[in-house]
This record gives sequence, C-alpha cells and structure tokens, in this order.
Amino acid sequence: MNSIQLPETMTVKELATQLGLGAPEVIKFLLEHGTMATINQNVDFETAQLVASNFGLSVSGGPSSPSQQQARHPSLDLSHAEPGSLVARPPVVTVLGHVDHGKTSLLDAIRETRVASGEAGGITQSIGAYQVEKAGRQITFIDTPGHAAFTAMRARGANVTDVAVLVVAADDGIMPQTDEAIQHARNANVPIIVALNKIDRDNANPDRVLQQLADRELVPEEYGGDTPVVRTSAKTGQGIDELLEMILLVSDIAEPKAQPNGPAAGTIIDSHMEKGRGAVATVLVQTGTLHVGDMIVAGSAYGKVRSLISYSGKRIKAAPPGSPVLITGLSDVSVPGEVFETLGSERAARAQAEGRSDSDRKAAAAPARKVTLADLASAVAEGQMKHLNLVLKADTNGALEALRGQIEAIQDPHVLVKIVGDGVGPVSESDINLASVSNSIVIGFNVRPDAAVKALADTEGVDVRFYDVVYQVTDDLDRALKGLYEPTFIEVPIGKIEVRKVFTVDGKPAIAGSHVIEGKITRNSICRVRRDGSEVIKAKVAQLRRGRDDAREVNHGFECGITLEGFADFHEGDLLEAFVIEQQNA
Ligand code: GDP
Repeated sequence: MNSIQLPETMTVKELATQLGLGAPEVIKFLLEHGTMATINQNVDFETAQLVASNFGLSVSGGPSSPSQQQARHPSLDLSHAEPGSLVARPPVVTVLGHVDHGKTSLLDAIRETRVASGEAGGITQSIGAYQVEKAGRQITFIDTPGHAAFTAMRARGANVTDVAVLVVAADDGIMPQTDEAIQHARNANVPIIVALNKIDRDNANPDRVLQQLADRELVPEEYGGDTPVVRTSAKTGQGIDELLEMILLVSDIAEPKAQPNGPAAGTIIDSHMEKGRGAVATVLVQTGTLHVGDMIVAGSAYGKVRSLISYSGKRIKAAPPGSPVLITGLSDVSVPGEVFETLGSERAARAQAEGRSDSDRKAAAAPARKVTLADLASAVAEGQMKHLNLVLKADTNGALEALRGQIEAIQDPHVLVKIVGDGVGPVSESDINLASVSNSIVIGFNVRPDAAVKALADTEGVDVRFYDVVYQVTDDLDRALKGLYEPTFIEVPIGKIEVRKVFTVDGKPAIAGSHVIEGKITRNSICRVRRDGSEVIKAKVAQLRRGRDDAREVNHGFECGITLEGFADFHEGDLLEAFVIEQQNA
C-alpha cells in the first residue's frame, strides 16, 4: 500500500483531498468520534492518521513536516507571494452575538451612516455583505448574522473574517449564543472587539458585562486587558464611529493583504437560483481581481462570470480583493463557505467541477448513516452518538428563542443536544446542506415545507421535521433519546384496480387479470381486496406483470396480472386498492 505524505497539521478539506475522500465523509467520521469539525478547521497528524486508517489508507509525515500555522485553501495561500507584490486590502468583519442583542440593528446603523459617500440612497437590496468607508479606508461587513447562510459558513469554518465584532446587549449580558460566538472566534483565531450595545437603555449595566467578559478571559482594556470594548447604541448611533476606528486599529495589527493582480479567489457568502438569471451568488473576493468573463469554479459549480454587481447595486467590470460582489454565470448554486477560484479555461473549470461532484457523489454513496429521530436511540445505544445536532428554523425570533430555550433544557446523560444552526424563515437548501455536513436533524417550526428543499433533504438523507407546538418538539426529542419514539406510518393510496379475469395456479384462483382504473399499481405496493364493498384481505403484491414481463409499475388504463402474497382467492369483479406505507413526518 502506498503511503500518503501529510504535513503536521492540515484542514479537514485538505485532508479529504489528500486521501481522495469527500470532505463530508471525513467530517462524518470525526463527528462519530465526538469531534465537531468543520471543513476549514485544522486537524493534527494524529487525527489524520486515525481518519486514514479507518478508510484503509496509510499515511506518513507528521511533526517533522513543515508546519502550517494557518492552513488555507491553496488559492488563498499567499505565503509564497513576493512580498512586494502584496497590497493592503479592506478588513472583513463578521458581527456575532446572541439573538436580539442588536446585530442586525448595528449592521443597519453602520450601513446607513457610513456607506461610501453618495451611494447610501442607491442601496435597495442586501447581498449579504457591504462596505463602508472610514478615514478614507474601506471596511467590508458580512451582514448575514444568525442567517442560515451564515450558520452554514460557520459550520464550514469559512476563513473569511479578519475581525469579529461581538455584540453584547448591556441590559442582558452574556448569553449562551454569546459564549458560542466567542468559541467560534477563538477557534478561527480571529481578534474580538466587543460592542457593548443598547448602552442607551436605562437598565444598561456595562460593569456587569465587563466583569462577565473578564471571567471568560476577554479582559477589557479598561481593566488592563487587551480586549477592546466599545459602548454602542444602534438606536442613537452612539459609538458607531468609534467602533469603526477600532476595527481599523485592530485590523492594522494583522495587516490583511492581498495580491491585487493575478487570478482571483475567494469565498461564496450566499447563493440562490433566480428565474431568468440562473445561479446568483454573493462572493467575497479575497485575493486577485475578479473580472466579467473570468472562468471560475466553486465546488461542483463552474462557469464564466456573466455579470458583476457591487453591494450598492452598480454593474461593475472588476472586483478588487476585499470586495463583496454579486455574480451570475455559475452553472449551479454553491454552498456558503465554498472557496471559488478562477481557472484558465472552461475545460479546466468543468473538469475540476466534475471531479469535485464525483467525489461528492462518492461521499454520498458511502454508507449514509445519517441520524434520524427513529434510529436515534439505537445509535446512542451503539455508542455512535455523543451529540444530537439540530438545525432550527422558526417563523419569528420569539418562536426561535422559545424553541431554543426548551431544547437547551433537555438533559440526557448520554447525549449532548447541540444546536449547530438556527434562523428565522423557511427551511432552505443551505439549512439542509448544513444539516448534511453536520449530521443534524432539521426542525422547522411554524414554517411550511418547500418541494425543492424536501427533495434535497431526501437525496441527502436528512431528517426534516415540521412542528407547530413547542412541547411536541421537545416531547419527540425526549422520547427519541429514550428510545420510545414510535414513528407513525400512514397508508398513501396510489391506485384502484378492477379484477376482470381470474387465472388459476395449482387449481386455485391466484392470478388476477386486471385493469388499472385509477392511478397506478407498483410492485412494492400493498393491495386491499374489496368484494361487494367489504375488505377481504390486505396483502403485499408478490408479482406484477404486463403481458409476460415483470413490471415495476402499471399505470391507469393498462392491463396487468397481479398475484398477492399468501392469497389465492380472487373473484372476477374484485376491486383492489393499492397503497404504499409512508412514515409520517411529525
Ligand atoms: P439581532 O437578533 O441580534 O439581530 O437583534 P436586532 O438587531 O434584531 O435587535 C433586537 C431588538 O433590539 C430590536 O427591537 C431592536 O430595535 C433593539 N435594539 C437593537 N439595538 C439597540 C440599541 O442599541 N438600543 C436600543 N434601545 N434598542 C436596540
């Protein structure tokens, strides 16, 4: 067996590529072994060895190999660039924090007061990111906090952020999602600036928050530590200028740089299909300059950039590093957090994209042991599950918070219930993607299922459940954890069939020469035999034939021959009701 040379540390994605596996496969393996890893997260050589040996591969290298401090996607790695060729680029800022602490309001306030002069009026739509100008310099904000796209990026550990602004409401203090956000920023090695928001409120208690921060080793500067804390109010605008100055100050330490010329690369922030425009993606250009007409590849999507639209809605020809832009021309939607890069030719782009979708397919074909409520207890019993991961979607912030509170209160001695993503709005394709990579169950509360999303969930094997009463969610989870969850099954009628002529086998009327009078009958269906209105028997289809051939299904208007398991007593004129059994969701 050839051994694969690996460095001391590498990202999950790089490891997967090196081993010829799909990243979801590696993430799944790590999850099953109790590590919640994301695609751009670093793993050490020992972990890599463990993964490799599980897939029957042998690796060498490790600690003696050159260390890679901040492993990045090769296209985004500037460590080999000539120092003189690099220029400063705008820092990229992500706003994190607990729900209702004012992330959206703060982002709105920053946008309204500071969007590059003269353009403020022109902004009609948010593309998931925008830029503001301060002291003649640009700052890029990712403005999808708590949004599904953002949680998906978080799950993929997308390495786009230079500075994290942690919003803490001065009247509420540090809450569970604040702690989560701190964890995320630390994992990603991103400096934190605290926006002590809602400082205008009468019941604001900044001292308490400063103490809470200090307790978490985020010692405020005014306490002699090195965590900048800016008092802000999204309502009155207090502190916004100071916050922007602080962002520039902090980012000057890291000095974000990029190669302004040469091939562009960056990260997908969001993407969706639009009628008449095809796949529309918001991307953040991180190095190089992206031009209209460039050939790009992002995961299994590829294409020529047809149009570039700036965050302020202007059509542009080129997007420099650090800028967020809307692009059209990709063959498909891609997952937030996916790296895009330019390639020389369409052929190269397509080959790379198809190679990726091949490995995606391989990963999908690998034994899919995705968690479902129905098999949760056995997975726990077999010791495979240490975390029950959930993605929550609800119609309102209030409902989401209620749900979150109830779910966080679930205590189980064996399983840690973990919310890996949440948001307000319908269950989207990116929720399913997030659930798929993080092996989560999706819970939709007071939201309606969408056909495309359901189809994606089916192919990805993701369990999606819809509820409209909070206690039913916790009840189901509770019962599933205890192994008491009884999925309910329902009969779904698919067709009606009339028996017109009966044939005998061994002297018994076992074959029904029939006519499908409504719907269809399939080989895997079950038939209820009715005679003069009463049910004679319910039995599985044993054989279904069209003429002499076995048929998988026979449709309305056609003749067929039917035998049922354990039944040999057909009469002419019997009516067969064909149905299939489906598990009812929720
Ligand atoms: P998010 O969930 O973190 O995005 O929070 P939102 O931006 O939606 O804010 C939640 C609520 O707090 C809204 O009703 C806002 O109007 C209010 N809010 C946000 N920032 C401030 C602030 O600085 N002062 C006051 N008084 N209210 C604020």
